[in-house]
Amino acid sequence: MIEAYQIVESNAPWIFTLFAFVIGAVVGSFLNVCIYRIPENRSVIAPGSACACGQPIPFYRNIPIISWILLQGRAACCELKFSIRYPLVELITALLFAACWLQFDPVPALLGMLFCAILLCATFIDLDHMIIPDRFSIGGMVIGVLLACLFPVLHSVESSIPLLASIESGLVAVLGAFVGSGLVYWIAVLGEVIFRKPAMGEGDVKFIGCIGAFCGWQGAVFAMFGGALIGTFVLLPWILALRIRSALKKNVSDVEERLDAAGQVPFGPMLALAAILYYLGLSEYVDAYFNQVAELFSPAAGSAVGR
Ligand SMILES: [Zn+2]
Repeated sequence: MIEAYQIVESNAPWIFTLFAFVIGAVVGSFLNVCIYRIPENRSVIAPGSACACGQPIPFYRNIPIISWILLQGRAACCELKFSIRYPLVELITALLFAACWLQFDPVPALLGMLFCAILLCATFIDLDHMIIPDRFSIGGMVIGVLLACLFPVLHSVESSIPLLASIESGLVAVLGAFVGSGLVYWIAVLGEVIFRKPAMGEGDVKFIGCIGAFCGWQGAVFAMFGGALIGTFVLLPWILALRIRSALKKNVSDVEERLDAAGQVPFGPMLALAAILYYLGLSEYVDAYFNQVAELFSPAAGSAVGR
């Protein structure tokens, strides 16, 4: 089995990347079901996929990404339009799975795929309903800690004694979860004092806990500030465009309503995007930065500079 893997890996490594992409598309198809049904408290397994008109969708018309393109975004049974979001979620999942495979060894790649799946579900449910269900935030945090213990490679912990590696990696995950969510909690409290309105939801606090369990405290802190930065870049142009439109059209009530909506943009998707960027490659630079900052405050560095 491992020999066969090595032969293919050395001769045609792209086959595995393609395989990861296809698996990602299939998982993305399942994530669509989760995103749609979990907030409604419906089972994600039964019944099978059905069209909005009630007709069940046969498996051969339910091929990720491809079916949507072949049917040109319309249902085969009743020609109802399907949202482009379905193939988009499948494509994003496929690309992320392929990226994980290219970036890591098999075990951290698989852990990364699971992490991406959790983040994607939480992102789209947050976009739709402004909530992040506990099973993704708290559930993701528990899964992250358990996986850290089972696979210390998640936090790059190496030791000749497996048990020690497991404990250390588990502690990194727990620390990440609590430092991350604790920090976000206090920033939220501070934001409420300054802006006199809730800056972040309880869901975001728990969600950062999940990110911390998978990425450690550095990743959680990065997700917090990186997410805020991404949010600024996404929101500012949008708010600016609305302002310009309001000046041009003078349709004030409509625009005021939209501006109000802009103030209630979910933070979860920004956190998730920053967390994915961290996991997929920025961790090296972020961790190096935090280490440099830590050195500035360590007594050894202080004495070297001082004397
Ligand atoms: Zn239909």
